[in-house]
Amino acid sequence: MKIKEILDRGITVSCELFPPKKESELSDYHRVVAEMAKVRPSFMSVTYGASGGTSDYTVDIANEVQNRNGIPALAHLTCLSSDKQKVASVLEQLKARGIENVLALRGDRVEGVTPPADRYEHASDLTAAVLASGDFCVGGACYPEGHPESPSLRADIENLRYKVDAGVSFLTSQMFFDNTIFYRYLLELHRVGIHVPVIAGIMPVTHAKQIMRITSLSGTVLPQRFRMIVERFGDDPAAMQQAGIAYATDQIIDLLANGVEHIHIYTMNRPQIAARIFENLSSIIPHER
Ligand code: FAD
Repeated sequence: MKIKEILDRGITVSCELFPPKKESELSDYHRVVAEMAKVRPSFMSVTYGASGGTSDYTVDIANEVQNRNGIPALAHLTCLSSDKQKVASVLEQLKARGIENVLALRGDRVEGVTPPADRYEHASDLTAAVLASGDFCVGGACYPEGHPESPSLRADIENLRYKVDAGVSFLTSQMFFDNTIFYRYLLELHRVGIHVPVIAGIMPVTHAKQIMRITSLSGTVLPQRFRMIVERFGDDPAAMQQAGIAYATDQIIDLLANGVEHIHIYTMNRPQIAARIFENLSSIIPHER
């Protein structure tokens, strides 16, 4: 099923997985995917070459999600990890497996890795190519605090328009820890006439080490309330996990209470974290998603 149709039905909560780096790790992934599927997310997204990881198994994992576990899969695809020929080949593989949803991204730049010369430049170029190659539902990324390479939030929103004009059906946001930033961003998108559904990206931070990586990658603002939690519980893994899950749950409840209908949890291969958040929301989100 296309993500666009799923979003049109009402509240959605989705999860994210990243594929293994080696073939030998694939067998453990059967368990991870099955465990994650048990929480019945509205769909599951599978990353592609993120943070220097591999793009080789995205199709396999998306296939596992959708065709073995019955959860609609959203396969990520990037410009920087693949040349145009590889993109075409991945799209054929997705079609052959009945996977209709693609998140079109430029990709993370990885130090020391030269991207292919014959590649799509921007996510908007990739979006157009995916849509031209078949009956896909394509989404894109957006950045409530502005993309780190953009001179300003306004400039980034101007560039966002390229992907919307190219035909994305939805946007998934970069993680944020202060909901006010997201609400302001939604207002700004409406003001400039961008009306595609925006899925709010929530990252449950469950250990202190994650923080440095997150802030250096995304440049996200850490609110004082959040920093106090890390300061107080960061050295105690069990306490930090509990506090991180509570913080993410709190953010999600506030988003839903304020009319945001679509939440994407950056669960990153941690089904136990997904399960605890879904449990916290069991009477809040509809059972049939
Ligand atoms: P783009 O939309 O191409 O934008 C990149 C930069 O270029 C921005 O500063 C933008 O303002 C500017 N820009 C865009 N279009 C134009 C234009 N036409 N002219 C001039 N400037 C322009 N990375 C991975 O490697 N693998 C993944 O699986 C992955 N999944 C992600 C999922 C989500 C939800 C998000 C938010 C990010 C993900 N990333 C992933 C990271 C992402 O690839 C990086 O943040 C990357 O730096 C930007 O990707 P983009 O698709 O937003 O790029």
